[in-house]
Amino acid sequence: MEKQTIQCINCERTADQVPLVPILTRDAQVYICPQCLPILIHKPQQLADKLHGADALLPHKH
Ligand SMILES: [Zn+2]
Repeated sequence: MEKQTIQCINCERTADQVPLVPILTRDAQVYICPQCLPILIHKPQQLADKLHGADALLPHKH
């Protein structure tokens, strides 16, 4: 079983380099750094490949 590296899902910096915010998903716990958090908020589709459930964060289309 592969050991999970604690790193930002977007920029892949590790907890040794930057503070990381944990995100709980249906499948696992992942991490994102504060600098990438706005991407998760405003452009979650960019992270949909890396973060299961991110597509559910898509804003409503009007
Ligand atoms: Zn990051």
